[in-house]
Amino acid sequence: MENSADQMVRVRFAPSPTGGLHLGGVRTVLFNYLFAKKYNGQFILRIEDTDQSRFVPGAEQYILDTLAWCGLTPDESPIHGGAYGPYRQSERKPMYKQYASQLIEQGNAYYAFDTADELDAKRKEIPNFQYNRATRMGLKNSLSLPAAEVTRLLNENTPHVVRINMPDSEELVFEDLIRGEVKFDTSMVDDKVLLKADEMPTYHLAVVVDDFLMKITHAFRGEEWLPSAPVHILVWKNLFGLDQMPQWGHLPLILKPDGNGKLSKRDGDRLGFPVFAMDWTDPNTKETTIGFKERGFLPAAFVNLLAMLGWNDGTDQELFSLPTLIEKFSLDRVHKGGAKFDYEKAKWFNQEWIKQSDNTYLATLVAPYFDTAKIEIHEPSYLVKVIGLVKERCQLLTDFIPQSSFFFAAPTEIDTASILPKWDANKAAFFTTVMDAYTNDAVPNDATQLESHFKTLAAEQGLKPGDLMLPFRIMLVGGKFGPGVFDIVANIETKDAAKRIQYCLDLLSKN
Ligand code: GLU
Repeated sequence: MENSADQMVRVRFAPSPTGGLHLGGVRTVLFNYLFAKKYNGQFILRIEDTDQSRFVPGAEQYILDTLAWCGLTPDESPIHGGAYGPYRQSERKPMYKQYASQLIEQGNAYYAFDTADELDAKRKEIPNFQYNRATRMGLKNSLSLPAAEVTRLLNENTPHVVRINMPDSEELVFEDLIRGEVKFDTSMVDDKVLLKADEMPTYHLAVVVDDFLMKITHAFRGEEWLPSAPVHILVWKNLFGLDQMPQWGHLPLILKPDGNGKLSKRDGDRLGFPVFAMDWTDPNTKETTIGFKERGFLPAAFVNLLAMLGWNDGTDQELFSLPTLIEKFSLDRVHKGGAKFDYEKAKWFNQEWIKQSDNTYLATLVAPYFDTAKIEIHEPSYLVKVIGLVKERCQLLTDFIPQSSFFFAAPTEIDTASILPKWDANKAAFFTTVMDAYTNDAVPNDATQLESHFKTLAAEQGLKPGDLMLPFRIMLVGGKFGPGVFDIVANIETKDAAKRIQYCLDLLSKN
């Protein structure tokens, strides 16, 4: 882990561009990034797109956009460049074959000529069929066939793949950065394909070759990749030597809110919260899945809440900026067990970040939501002021719309039902007086002066200001919510307030 002069820390995030990025994927990015930056190292984005059948247009751009939104900028990537490119595996195709050939020459891999139909037949014949030490000698490969036959098949360009030759019973051990010692028995692992018939490598070969060629020193990835580790260890051992292998850390799963299994996109759809980082539209079905960004999360809050899914600094502190996370991050505080996802807690993080964010910055983030809601903002500085008044009440950026739309246009829906039970002629007379004063510019647009004017008038008419506040609020905003009423009047200004009072008095008189 030391950043010795001769070994720069180099980590990578290596997603397959197959769709929206799950929050667990972004947490993997984050932990790689934090580790790299903590040790003044480099963070590399490598696109693992060798499985062309799973290629989804737009998915790579989506990953780049997500990283940009989170502020987790790669030092090297398909768009940032770097000395170890290309950073898309599909563009590195010619690099892999020689390593597959080397493994074959060494006896660590073999050619397999079985057709899809032949393999299907085997699957029907043998329950839970696996291509492994138990079955391989009954199949069509360079271990089971005579050498002359293998040569003939190769000379005739018979389609074939290259498979790893899993040792019969060998114990493989590695030291996981998070889980400690992990052991595998090779007899439990099948002969995975390393190179496909079109000479495209599979993930198992490409990940090892690229981690080697890109001088990766550490790699954090999801726990779901742990079963692949024995394959990778063997490829490392046989190609480059185990001392060259990056140190792996397998991150615990992010669990459903009830702790029962891995959190999936379907859980989010079912329970009504985002699981993807940003909106993702499936290019085939055109179905859009909501993301944290569009749901109204701040990038700083998203990064903060992800960091806390599986890590803490050993104190009760929960709010961390990215620079502080870099400073405080340590592997010994990464949990081994899964972390339950709690959407209410996620919103709490967002609310805290809204509270501590600069109003001008928040204005740039909420402006698009106002656009969508077709609320016109004539004066950007007015929006900034309004944000300052309502931000305490907003958990999500989308909350700014209901919490502040009345600053921009008079409400049309008025909750008169909440006024009527205690409404009487005295109150109607009082608000008529207020309305007249406002219409005639008798009170300046200043919250303190508006309040004292209101209270003096109430006292003069023998009314308690406390009984008048709720109706006044409802007249101004439409319901029982919003910041201080005199702050509202000061901002919408008395002439507008007078119109709202009039509108409401008319409604009430009809009841
Ligand atoms: N391509 C794999 C993925 O889609 C990468 C796994 C790894 O980091 O080794 O997540």
